[in-house]
Amino acid sequence: MTMKKEISLNLKPDYIEKYENGYPLLLKEALSDFDKINQEGLILNLFTPKNKFIAKAYHGLQNKGFGWILSLDKSESIDASFFTKKIKEAMQNREDFYQDKSTTAFRVFNGEGDGVGGITIDYFAGYYMLTWYSLGIYEFREEILDALKSCVDYKGIYQKKRFDSKGMYLDEADDFITGKRAPEPLIVKENGANFAIYLDDGAMVGVFLDQKNVRKTIRDNYAKGKTVLNTFSYTGAFSVFAALGGAKSTTSVDLAKRSLPKTAEQFEVNQINLDAQEIIVEDVFNYFKYAVRKKLLFDMVVLDPPSFARSKKHTFSASKDYVKLLKEAIQITNKNGIIVASTNSANFSMMSFGDFISQAFRELKGKFKVEERFSLPDDFRVNSKFKEGNYLKVVFIRKL
Ligand code: SAH
Repeated sequence: MTMKKEISLNLKPDYIEKYENGYPLLLKEALSDFDKINQEGLILNLFTPKNKFIAKAYHGLQNKGFGWILSLDKSESIDASFFTKKIKEAMQNREDFYQDKSTTAFRVFNGEGDGVGGITIDYFAGYYMLTWYSLGIYEFREEILDALKSCVDYKGIYQKKRFDSKGMYLDEADDFITGKRAPEPLIVKENGANFAIYLDDGAMVGVFLDQKNVRKTIRDNYAKGKTVLNTFSYTGAFSVFAALGGAKSTTSVDLAKRSLPKTAEQFEVNQINLDAQEIIVEDVFNYFKYAVRKKLLFDMVVLDPPSFARSKKHTFSASKDYVKLLKEAIQITNKNGIIVASTNSANFSMMSFGDFISQAFRELKGKFKVEERFSLPDDFRVNSKFKEGNYLKVVFIRKL
C-alpha cells in the first residue's frame, strides 16, 4: 500500500476556532495557501499562522467544499487501521439495525456523520454498497475496502461513483467489486415490507433508505381506507407502504418510463393486487392540470420531488418552486386530507420549508395544521457540528 502524500497548509485566523471546535467541512476560503494543493486525495495538515497544529483533512471536490477534516490528532495516520476504527464505531452505532430482522437495508456509514465525509456505506441483506462522492476520497479506496472487509461478514461488495470520473478506466464502470454477485433483484426488508433492489443497474438501486420512518408512518397511521396520490413516485415506495396500510387506492405518477415496470414489481414482491393501484408515466405538472379538470380529489397526496429537475416543459427547483407545487397539491386534496411534503434539498432549512407551506395556504386562503415532521432516520447519522448534513425535511400537513 502506498503512503499518501501529506502537505502543510495555513488556516486563515477567522476560521481557526471553527475547526478547533470540530467543524468537518474544509472550505477553500479557510485556507490562505490553497494553491499549494495540486491533486485530490492529498492529506492536508492544517496549522495556524503561528504554526500550531489544528486538524488533518483530505482534499476532495464536491458540490460543496474542498475536502473533509479527518482528525484533530497530529500523529494520526490515515491508513486502513484509521478507517477500520471509524467503520467499527459506525457499526456499533447500528447494532439495533443489524439485530432487527424486519429491516435488512440501512445505512452503515454516513459520511461526516461517522467521521469521514465523502463516503457512504449501505447494507442490503448481506451485501454492502460503497458510494464515493469525490475523486479525493476514491483515492483511499484500497484502504477503505480493506477496512470494510476486516470489519464485516459480507456476501458481496458493490460501489457507485457520484463524481465526474472522466479519465478513469472504462472497465471500472461495473459496480461490482468483490465477493458474490447479488441476485437481481435482491429482496430486502424494511419494517416487514419487501423491496426489489438492483445493486448494479445504473445510478440508483431502487429505494431511498432515508424515508423509512416516513413510509412506516404512512402505512401504520394514515393510509387505511384512503385514496393516495404519490407524485415523483420513482419505484413507488410510498405507494407500496400506503397499500400495505390498507389504502383504498394508490396513484403513482413519475415522468420516467422505467417507473412503471419498477413500481409494478415493488407491488408484486409485496403480494399487493395491482387492480387498485394506478401507475402513470407523466409529468407531474400535467397530471395536476388533468386532475383539476377531472375534479379529482385525494385523501393523501405525497410530494417528493428531486431538488432540481428539468423536463421537456418545466424546470423545477425545490428552493424556488415548492410553494407552487404545494398549491397544486392543496387544490386536489380533500378537506381533512393529508399532504406529505418532502424535500432533500440542502439549500433551505426546516424553518424555511415551514414558511413555504404557510405561504402556499395563505395564497389560496386555506387553513392547515402540521401533524408531524421528520428529518433523517438514526442510521443516517448526523455530525452535531454540521447540522446542514441533515438535509431531509418531511412535513405531514392536514388541510382544514
Ligand atoms: N419519491 C420517490 C423518490 C423520488 S426521486 C421515492 O420515495 O422513492 C425523483 C423522481 O422524480 C425521479 O423518479 C424522476 O423521474 C421524477 N421526476 C422528476 N421530474 C418530474 C416531473 N416533472 N414529473 C414527474 N416525475 C418527475
